[in-house]
Amino acid sequence: MPAQLIDGVLLSQQLRADIKERAAKLTAAGKQPGLAVILVGEDPASHVYVRNKVKACGDVGFHSVLEKYDADLTEAALLARIAALNADPAIHGILVQMPLPRHIDPSKVIEAIATSKDVDGYSVLSAGELVANLPGFRPCTPYGCMKLIETTGIDLRGKHAVVIGRSNTVGKPMALLLLQANATVTICHSATPDLGYHTRQADVIVAAVGRRNTLTADMVKPGAIVIDVGMNRDDAGKLCGDVDFAGVSEVAAHITPVPGGVGPMTITMLLMNTVESAERVHSASQAPGQAKGMEPKPGIA
Ligand code: NAP
Repeated sequence: MPAQLIDGVLLSQQLRADIKERAAKLTAAGKQPGLAVILVGEDPASHVYVRNKVKACGDVGFHSVLEKYDADLTEAALLARIAALNADPAIHGILVQMPLPRHIDPSKVIEAIATSKDVDGYSVLSAGELVANLPGFRPCTPYGCMKLIETTGIDLRGKHAVVIGRSNTVGKPMALLLLQANATVTICHSATPDLGYHTRQADVIVAAVGRRNTLTADMVKPGAIVIDVGMNRDDAGKLCGDVDFAGVSEVAAHITPVPGGVGPMTITMLLMNTVESAERVHSASQAPGQAKGMEPKPGIA
């Protein structure tokens, strides 16, 4: 029986409707959520990404600031802008679009963002919060994958999850989120000798590689949940994931398509992190001296 599609577009719409309501409540209380997006240089794909992020902010009623700089912006000037945004009470999230020009050290820039505004969840402190099971901002793509898995209604406790890919932004945080949801987790990467050996044992597979047809039907256990993070182009130039969708959907029980799966969720979770950041500031101002910690994310034990 063909797998059930996990619809990232539909889930995004539902989550964004909720975010919009929460934003409206905050705005009515004089605390409109605000996101600052910084773009340095002329990378055409980055221009599209930031445009989409700013548009998404408008759609859910956020205040947004888009700061565009020429590629020759100095690192010091960028760090000064981040310091100013860290201190700006109208801004609850700061995002610096990657990649940056080569003369700017991306890790210096990421670490300059206040942890309380690190809505991308990329800083070392945010990563540490995730490792330590502390509340904090989760990187948007793996956070979105968890929400997609949640829609299947399948409890991850005791399930075997295999993550293919170990990047700091997708694979590693994905594995940690699955672990927090009580799955038994295996992480595979380019030095894993027999990928299929691992994936065939998995109840959940998350593919985050960046190479099409990395996961084929013979590598999947019948009934598995398959989440495809990859964004690649096929020979005809059409967007595709890491998973052989046609083949794998004959074996898996649940699968995300590309496009229409993980992709739309990434911006949605950025909005989610931003509204959570604004709510946190608001509740702290309501109860001075008792600043409330962020609510634990779903899946956190
Ligand atoms: P990345 O930093 O390039 O990491 C890719 C990972 O895949 C690495 O850990 C690499 O292993 C591993 N890998 C490479 N070849 C492999 C193989 N043959 N078998 C097993 N593992 C292999 O990429 P990323 O940033 O994590 O992104 C992964 C994919 O997701 C890309 O296609 C990207 O465009 C996409 N993506 C999509 C979204 C979205 O919103 N939909 C968001 C982020 C990323 P090593 O560590 O050993 O090199």
